[in-house]
Amino acid sequence: MKAVSDQGKETVGHVIRPGATIGMVGGGQLGKMFANAASAMGYRVVVFCESEVEPAAQVATFCVTGRLDDAAKVDEFASLCDVITYEFENIPAETIERCRRQAPTYPDHGVLAIAQDREIEKTTFQNASLPVTPFRPVESKSQIAEFASEHGWPVIVKTSRSGYDGKGQSRIDDQTALDRWDADFSVRHVAEKMIELDGEVSVVVARSPSGETSCFPVFENHHRHHVLEWTRLPALVPETMQRRAREIAIRAADTLDLVGLLCVEFFISGDDVLINEVAPRPHNSGHLTIEACHTSQFTQHVRAVCNLPLGDPSMRVGSASMVNLLGRPSSNGPEVGQEEPGQDANFQDANIQDGWSWMDRSRASLHWYGKGQEKPGRKMGHLTRTGEKGEDCVTPLLACRDEFESSGTAGCDTTVRKEA
Ligand code: ADP
Ligand code: MG
Repeated sequence: MKAVSDQGKETVGHVIRPGATIGMVGGGQLGKMFANAASAMGYRVVVFCESEVEPAAQVATFCVTGRLDDAAKVDEFASLCDVITYEFENIPAETIERCRRQAPTYPDHGVLAIAQDREIEKTTFQNASLPVTPFRPVESKSQIAEFASEHGWPVIVKTSRSGYDGKGQSRIDDQTALDRWDADFSVRHVAEKMIELDGEVSVVVARSPSGETSCFPVFENHHRHHVLEWTRLPALVPETMQRRAREIAIRAADTLDLVGLLCVEFFISGDDVLINEVAPRPHNSGHLTIEACHTSQFTQHVRAVCNLPLGDPSMRVGSASMVNLLGRPSSNGPEVGQEEPGQDANFQDANIQDGWSWMDRSRASLHWYGKGQEKPGRKMGHLTRTGEKGEDCVTPLLACRDEFESSGTAGCDTTVRKEA
């Protein structure tokens, strides 16, 4: 049933039908929603992640647990799969390359290697004549000062690798701030011009092994503290800018020869539509497609990697929005990134009793990821609401979110017990 020849090259045109097994590397919420979509279509899903209590592992048909860079575990996982994909970028590209020895693996390791490094990503798109935010790799404060003399202050400096949700980024306002900045040039950085934003949008494009592409409608995104706060469909952005964003997203996917999903995040500034960054996977801004579109981004991901015809991504409602539920400041888990390895494995869940009184009077759809612990700022879940054309779906959801956020976590039973 494997679509792999002796040389490890997949057979072009091979369709992976329902009943087959899809491997998912990564156990987070994206993997969970992917597994739900795949399961609905009759696929078995094997999740490869570090602990069996991660969100995707909770809904998978089967789970292989271990370190993602453990070659023996990679082989054990890959041997179970007819096709393999992944749900986050910070996976060793070698793991994805190794998976491919046993089953077609999409997007391939070359795409992952580009997307997980900002310098390589921006250079790749610049070389393909696609518009990116002005940038340069920097290895010293004097190079940052040089960049500022060309593009002006402030400058945003980002680590080339491993950044997410605003982590690994510093805004440097002037020379004095640069002098004071506590730099660590043992890791690579890029300096970026600070763009005066009129808005931010993203486009999720699916691309199948034959090169067929399909774009979701343009998502309008609003960030708080560099983290996505809410998304709206349709985007209140001029149609010409939307068309340009979609064209650029398709060209980006073609440039990478991508199979699967690509999310392209854009900055809109004056007449410019600039690529900020890409992710070769489903994206937080696309979560609302579950309720808002004929085909969700997760279903489309399944279709693309299984070489099925792509589904209709257009809206099936007049308007929709998504609001993230982030871990509350009062939650007692350690900050994101500060947790000890394995700390999630106690199957404690966040409080889902306090702060949920709005559930009986709102049209919000709740997606709660079931992460081990609520921690300040951690993506714990999201809400989606759909409505008529022109209806404001954002405001009622923000009210729900505020109620959730202002509620405490103390004094409640926060334990969800695993069935024996
Ligand atoms: P992450 O990988 O953490 O999502 P991004 O590069 O997408 O990192 O930055 C997160 C957010 O920070 C962006 O969506 C935008 O709101 C803001 N930001 C980042 N870079 C710039 C920039 N060069 N100019 C203006 N805003 C920026
Ligand atoms: Mg981003």
